[in-house]
Amino acid sequence: MSDDTREHNTTHDWARHEAESHDAGHAPGEPHDPGHAHDGEYRRPLHLAHRHAVAWLESLDERPVRPEIDADAMLDRLDQVLPDEGCDATAVVDELVAAAEPGLMAMGSPRFYGLVIGGAYPAALAADWLVSAWDQNTGPRQPTPATSALEETAGHWLLDLLSLPRESGVGFATGATSANLACLLAARDAVVRERGADPALGLQQAPPVRLLAGDAVHASVVLAGRMAGLGVPHTVGADDQGRIDVAGLARALHEHGDRPAIVVLQAGDVHSGAFDDFAAAVEVAHLAGAWVHVDGAFGLWAAASPRFQELVAGLADADSWATDAHKTLNVPYDCGVAIVRDEAAMRAALGARAAYLPSVDGVPDPFDHVPEMSRRARGVPVWAALRSLGRRGVAALVDGLADAATGLADGFRGIAGLSVLNDVVFTQVCLAAPTDDQTAALGEWLRAEGTVWASSSRWQDRTVVRFAVSNRGTDAEAVRRTVDAVARGATALGIS
Ligand SMILES: *Cc1c(COP(=O)(O)O)cnc(C)c1O
Repeated sequence: MSDDTREHNTTHDWARHEAESHDAGHAPGEPHDPGHAHDGEYRRPLHLAHRHAVAWLESLDERPVRPEIDADAMLDRLDQVLPDEGCDATAVVDELVAAAEPGLMAMGSPRFYGLVIGGAYPAALAADWLVSAWDQNTGPRQPTPATSALEETAGHWLLDLLSLPRESGVGFATGATSANLACLLAARDAVVRERGADPALGLQQAPPVRLLAGDAVHASVVLAGRMAGLGVPHTVGADDQGRIDVAGLARALHEHGDRPAIVVLQAGDVHSGAFDDFAAAVEVAHLAGAWVHVDGAFGLWAAASPRFQELVAGLADADSWATDAHKTLNVPYDCGVAIVRDEAAMRAALGARAAYLPSVDGVPDPFDHVPEMSRRARGVPVWAALRSLGRRGVAALVDGLADAATGLADGFRGIAGLSVLNDVVFTQVCLAAPTDDQTAALGEWLRAEGTVWASSSRWQDRTVVRFAVSNRGTDAEAVRRTVDAVARGATALGIS
């Protein structure tokens, strides 16, 4: 046994001993054996947090999905003057849990369909805890060999799973918004440089860059465009499912002439789940010399399933891609992924160097691929989720989410008075009653009743209740309970 291995086993054995000797748990305030000199202050608050966390997670399937009280009521209870004196960490944990309880939404419930929100795989959540405990600032690579290498490995696995170019740069950002931003910054600087301008001198010196997108472009891309100094995207049209109008795109690019352009395509519309026609749109954009970015916050994962290859045909020919691991992959918040084919372009736009930063020439640091410098090792839970699922498990996850959406749509269509407005091609289902007022009332009824939580929205000039399936636990039973709840609501409101 090498010294390294012995060291490793010692830590491991110690952790196991701790877990066993504390399984019975301690009440807060109870005296405890300090054991190792360094463990006293962490052991009890972490043990308590662990017990509270498990109790929460095990309650998710049965508790009402909605919180008991709203944000204003929570703030009324909590927002008192900071006490002069502090208190013990275990008391803080208990107070925190008691205070938070009435205001927690069961977002990890298999019947939570709001926004586009996944749950958390046990391996990913456990890894996320370790990331906090290890507390490695995974910005620079040299001081964080373990977490940097785990993230780089997770990045390689992602490129492989999603069939994206293996040479791409990968950055673990806070979400798809910051991943979209990272990609747009790389794109902006690259197209400006191609026209002979130096992006370091600022956009004022550069030819104007046009950002183009379909009409169903996500608010996050609009925000990222503004943060990147590109302004709100110029929209070129879309069909009834939200897919970009490729002829409209070609016209807009032609009118724009030879000036630099960035085209944003979408894999997975938040209402319909629709995917743009990547093959056609990328061809048109590249012919015009434009950079093509894909916002695939949840839809990019379709590429990991053999079943959805048609939806993603041509996707890999784009220049950059943004996705979320905290949506489809079911890792805890916050975790988005920015992917840029030309890694050097990513580094040129987002990299930083300083005398005190231990970088090696030519070797990208994690902070070269994201807007942040210091950050947690948020790619490690991605590594853990992928390791626990394997290639087949990721495909099964994606297929299962889509199956649940199909199951919901079929069930909803069987309820008198209700209709599904979108073509259910992936994970999104838009439900409507005969009138907008009835649909709005149904959304409110459902959220108050508590069996499910789905967002109300507007789509194609109609009010809809939108179900986004993004939780690994949304199985046939969850679908059945959801459809039952919707049927009860439709009856209660006189829709059925
Ligand atoms: C969720 C979403 C985003 C934004 O992602 P965040 O993780 O919330 O920043 C962007 N685009 C699409 C299509 C989305 O569904």
